[in-house]
Amino acid sequence: MTFPDLTRAFELSSRLLEAKTFHDLNVVLMNTLLEIDTIEKVSSYEILGRNYRDERTPEPLIRKFPLSLAEDFKDEFTDIVRDISLHGETGVSFLTCDRQEYIYIYVNRGEPPEKLVLIKGVVDEYNLEVVRGLAKIYDHQIRLFDTKERDILTRLNNRQTLSSTFEQVLDFYRNNANNELNSYIALLDIDHFKTINDKFGHLYGDEVLIHFANIMRTTFRHSDFLFRYGGEEFLVIINQTDENGALAVLERFRLAVENYEFPSGNVTVSIGCTPINTEQAVPLMIEVADEALYLSKSNGRNQTNILERSAKQFVDNDIEFF
Ligand code: GH3
Ligand code: MG
Ligand code: MG
Repeated sequence: MTFPDLTRAFELSSRLLEAKTFHDLNVVLMNTLLEIDTIEKVSSYEILGRNYRDERTPEPLIRKFPLSLAEDFKDEFTDIVRDISLHGETGVSFLTCDRQEYIYIYVNRGEPPEKLVLIKGVVDEYNLEVVRGLAKIYDHQIRLFDTKERDILTRLNNRQTLSSTFEQVLDFYRNNANNELNSYIALLDIDHFKTINDKFGHLYGDEVLIHFANIMRTTFRHSDFLFRYGGEEFLVIINQTDENGALAVLERFRLAVENYEFPSGNVTVSIGCTPINTEQAVPLMIEVADEALYLSKSNGRNQTNILERSAKQFVDNDIEFF
């Protein structure tokens, strides 16, 4: 390897290593790949899960970068993404489709979401090594972000990615201003959780949290964002819906919890919800959801409340996030 080659390799690697979130990592990788002359287009996806309406060819549930919130998302590469998600192997591979050549980087770690970067174009041997090198670092960084951004107990996202996820969601609505639907923030707080710990012990408490997170995963859509916000408090960004839709899914969730047989017996949840407003600071929106949650708690728990704006007066618009 010559000296300039070495310098370039280090420069390219450090770009990926400097990315602080999965979102940034994607942006950097896509832009770096586009610097290669013979590459025409780069698209990046997450495969969130599979829709098993048809056993043999399950439909992959795809999210694209930059964020697309549409549930039935499609683009010119959807068919290719579906094929790769059914047969692809982790690593860098090649594909020809309609006489067009593609290279793709696929990361499948046995736990969703799988990641896929689709590159349209051919590259020479030298640049192929560049792509392979970038793919290795990409894979490594994803592994790192996974441990950093996910809660160990429930495997939901932790608070680390909350602000970057909100930014993406807000950007989506800013760029799709005439979209009639909206996203909603919901805070879910387990009722009397302390009593569960006190009565059955911390391990049972942990078990309840795992079951609770699983009910969240089966009730909300793949396109929604689920977080463990604090100890026994969870946050959901319910995407592309209206107030009735948000209320319906939250009530469905509340009842699913109420009717679930937890190892510690019955558990209920109180919920506070508010619509996303692109004009407002995120901490203030969470504050309003928290106010709605407080209403649910003080009105007897095991219920859902939606508040559009705070009943309190906010004077300071510059409250810090955490
Ligand atoms: P409320 O209905 O008002 O929400 O009452 P609560 O008891 O659920 O709320 P409180 O905030 O008083 O107590 C929350 C408890 O959650 C206290 C804390 O010990 C427990 N907790 C927080 N994180 C964990 C965890 O990871 N595992 C277990 N087992 N318990 C946890
Ligand atoms: Mg609680
Ligand atoms: Mg709490």
